[in-house]
Amino acid sequence: MFILLKAIGVILVADFVTGFVHWLEDSYWSPETPILGKWLIEANLEHHKNGQAFLKKSWLASSWDLYLTGMITLMTAYYLNFLTWELWLFVIISMNANQIHKWAHITRYENKPNIIGLLQKMYILQRTDHHGQHHRKPNNSHYCVITNILNPVLDRLQFWRMLESVFGQKKSV
Ligand SMILES: [Zn+2]
Ligand SMILES: [Zn+2]
Repeated sequence: MFILLKAIGVILVADFVTGFVHWLEDSYWSPETPILGKWLIEANLEHHKNGQAFLKKSWLASSWDLYLTGMITLMTAYYLNFLTWELWLFVIISMNANQIHKWAHITRYENKPNIIGLLQKMYILQRTDHHGQHHRKPNNSHYCVITNILNPVLDRLQFWRMLESVFGQKKSV
């Protein structure tokens, strides 16, 4: 039981990290941001304009950077003797964050693997209607993309607004 709770905790941490990076992308980074601008932010802005467009990209084109980051994290942890199952789980979930995000953009009328539809129905992976709320103006809630659990909590607590008051003025969209 404790292991299950721990695993859920790890998944929620991964969910939070995706939400945090997404919030930074949406709120502070622009195409002019060094390194990240061209690579991440242009695609992010495009995604907000046309939510379905990134479905045309292959799995590798969408996830190579997360896989690379995940591999570097695992190798570093191996050398530091810190390669626990919790870290494995965290990395595996995080590496696939964009894929999970893509699945949330495929509606139930379109073609998606049955198992994914089932996991979404069971509220294990983030559902299409849930993520759709991020794509509604003013696009400033539901930043986490893996589960349905964290967003309602963080949004109700006004967590992102609190962070914005610490981080300062958001970019104008
Ligand atoms: Zn966004
Ligand atoms: Zn989206």
